[in-house]
Order: sequence, then structure tokens, then C-alpha cells
Amino acid sequence: MGAGNLLIVGAGLTGAVIGRKLAEAGYSVSIVDSRDHIGGNCHTERDAETGVMVHVYGPHIFHTDDSEVWDYVNSFETFKPYKNRVKATTKGQVFSLPVNLHTINQFFGKTMRPDEARDFITQDQADTTIDDPQTFEEQAMRFVGKDLYEAFFKGYTTKQWGCHPSELPASILKRLPVRFNYDDNYFFHKFQGMPENGYTSMIEKILDHPGISVQLNTMFTRAMAEDYDHVFYSGPLDGWFDYELGRLGYRTLDFERFTFDGDYQGCAVMNYGEAAVPYTRITEHKYFSPWEDHDSSVCYREFSRAAEPGDIPYYPIRQVKEKALLAEYVALAEAAEGVTFVGRLATYRYLDMDVTIREAMDAADGFLQGARDGTGVPAFFASPL
Ligand code: FAD
Ligand code: UDP
Repeated sequence: MGAGNLLIVGAGLTGAVIGRKLAEAGYSVSIVDSRDHIGGNCHTERDAETGVMVHVYGPHIFHTDDSEVWDYVNSFETFKPYKNRVKATTKGQVFSLPVNLHTINQFFGKTMRPDEARDFITQDQADTTIDDPQTFEEQAMRFVGKDLYEAFFKGYTTKQWGCHPSELPASILKRLPVRFNYDDNYFFHKFQGMPENGYTSMIEKILDHPGISVQLNTMFTRAMAEDYDHVFYSGPLDGWFDYELGRLGYRTLDFERFTFDGDYQGCAVMNYGEAAVPYTRITEHKYFSPWEDHDSSVCYREFSRAAEPGDIPYYPIRQVKEKALLAEYVALAEAAEGVTFVGRLATYRYLDMDVTIREAMDAADGFLQGARDGTGVPAFFASPL
């Protein structure tokens, strides 16, 4: 006899990693997903027209400092070297991102060395009257100053989040470095790469275990939970409770696909800093697989807007109003029995893939530990608050 029957809602990275670990521990794992494919938002598929591997729900680059997570993904899929080098179009020119010495010199028409550029930004550009930046705008004014802020961040951020950067927390901008050298690697993590055959192929291999069954095109309803010893739920937190307290706010994305005969923009990601351009960025998918050869190209123009019921929830908004509602849902969740809330939607956080995998591994380990000790399973292994 097996260790027990588990239901996992969602066949994204969270559901797959938890499912695999618990199936290996002897549990019988059923996974349901409302979509017609596995992989959640990391899903990749080959475009029928061009043969290009497309990141269907937007560009996904794997980057981490967590060597255990890196070993984990490499045990299922070959990762090819890939560095994300983002460009930005603004004020009639193309610049390098994240803001680095090339960006600064080009933008101000100078030829400064690193220490000169640092002095220039900190003494002539940055607003040093801001001691402890709280908002996105203050963070930008404090660290790059008005000119760079207005060219690269103000318009883009207003489009991305649908509000003025003075209404957003500084933490959103803290994700991006400012460099006083010519390093244009968008990320600073030790391990970076792209799965050779796409993320869906990797997740398919994670799910390939005799203890796991996957049912696609299946919307979870709470009645399903009755047939199982425990549920891991990676759908939206408010969705579990049928939105009874209202909806947690998200930004959604619309991708306008187009093809091009040849190279469209010459790089994977081109950001558009100005508010007058309605989209935030264009991704040219063949550049995510630089080891492949394709004559024609498939691109996405990316538009951001407030999510309505029925839209795919992408970015949790997490401002004051949303956090208050979140606290109420967390209280309900903590009182619920037989379910653990996992992943980016059920904990209402922006989670990179490496953090998603780390948390999924920890949740599965925590579950096994609880089963061994007879201490039960908490509603959350990672707090949404
Ligand atoms: P998801 O991938 O959302 O999977 C949840 C699954 O649950 C979905 O398949 C959904 O269909 C299913 N589901 C939900 N509710 C139900 C229900 N009621 N019944 C049945 N099924 C249900 N991370 C990086 O590390 N690098 C990047 O470059 C990067 N780029 C990103 C770009 C964008 C535009 C976005 C939005 C995210 C990006 N991420 C990136 C983050 C990455 O997408 C997440 O880390 C990852 O998808 C989280 O996996 P998950 O399984 O928790 O959630
Ligand atoms: N951002 C910006 N201009 C850019 C790139 C990013 O203003 O050219 C801001 C934007 O608000 C974004 C945040 O910086 O949400 C973090 O950027 P990141 O590239 O991490 O965004 P993500 O990959 O989450 O879309």
C-alpha cells in the first residue's frame, strides 16, 4: 500500500516539483490543471509557422545562486549558456540595460571612466536630499537621478503597473542594478541558462514518474478534495474561497504576436521607456535559443493592464489595499483543513523560477517531516504576508 493519495492543483513548476518529491516518497499523486498543457506560465512551445521555441506566457530566463536548485533543473534538462542582455529604446536611441557605464556615457554624450561616472551620477544627478527612499520614484531619483529616471523608468513603469511610480514601493526598482562598468548582464546570479528543449520539456520529465498522473483541461473544484488525504493548491488564493471577500488585484499581459522574415530587432528583449509607446517591450523569441538557426522570426509586443475576472493573473499588485485583503484571505486559509497553499498564485507573490523550485522542495520536505512526526501540515510553508 502507498503512503497516501494527494491532489495537486496546478501543473506548473510548483505542482511538478512537489508532485515529484512526494511520488518518490511513495505517495500516489494526482495533478489537475485547467489549461491544455503542463508548465504553467513557464510553458514553451515550438511555433508551427517559424519553428522557433516560443515562451508562450512571456520571456523566461533561468538565473539562480542556489546550487541545489541549479543541480535539480540540470538533472532533468540540459541548460545551454544564456545571458540576458536587454536593450531599451527611448528618446530616439537604443541603449543598453540595466543602466551601466555604456548607458550613462551614451545618454550624457560623455566618455567617463567608472569613478568619474560614479561621481557624476552621485553628485550631479542623484537627489541626495532623499535619505531613505520609500517609493519607486524616490528610489530612482536617489540612485540615478531625474534624467535617467524619466528616460528609462517613469514611462515604462507607468505602463507596466498602471499607476504613477510615486505610488509603488521602492522594492520593485531594487531588483535592477546600476553598474559603473560595461557589464550588461541583466542578472547578477552565478548560474544562468536556458533549457535546450524548453521549459515544458523539462517539466514533462519532472512529471514523468509512475506515482504521478496528470489531468489537463480540468478546473479544480473544492468537492474534488474530498477524495484525497491532502491537497497542495497552486491556484489563486482568493479563487480557493470563490472570491468571497473580493478579488486580489493583478496586472495581466496581452501579447500581440507577429512574425518577421529575417531578424526583427537583433536581440531577445527590447524595452520601450516612453509612455507614448503603448507596449512595454518586444521579445524576439529565437534569441532565447541562440544555438538554433531560424530564417524567420516570431515576436511578441507586450501590453500590460489591470486583470479582469477571466484574465490570466500575472503580476500581484501588493499595494496597501491588496495587502489588507490578502491578510483576510490568509486568516481564512490558516483555518482551512487538508490544504496547503503553494506557489506564486496561492501565496500572491512575484516568485522567480528558482525561488519557486526552492519553496516547492521545502514544502514537500516539510510535508514529509510533518507526516513522520505526526505534527500535521500547515496552510503555508512560505508566508504570503
Ligand atoms: P504557475 O506557473 O502560474 O502555475 C500554476 C498553474 O495552476 C497554472 O498552470 C494554472 O493553469 C493552474 N491553475 C490555477 N488555478 C487552477 C484551478 N482552479 N484549477 C486547475 N488548475 C489551476 N521567473 C524567472 O525565474 N525568470 C524569468 O525570466 C521570469 N519571467 C517571467 C515573466 C513573466 C511575464 C511572468 C509573469 C513571470 C516570470 N517569471 C520568471 C516567474 C515564473 O513564471 C514563475 O516563477 C512560475 O511560473 C511559478 O510557477 P507556479 O507553478 O507557482 O505558477
Ligand atoms: N523597469 C523600468 N524600465 C525598464 C525595465 C524595468 O521601469 O526598462 C521597472 C518596471 O517597473 C519593472 C521593474 O523595473 O516592473 C523591475 O524590472 P524587471 O525587469 O525585473 O521586471 P519583470 O521581469 O518583472 O517584468
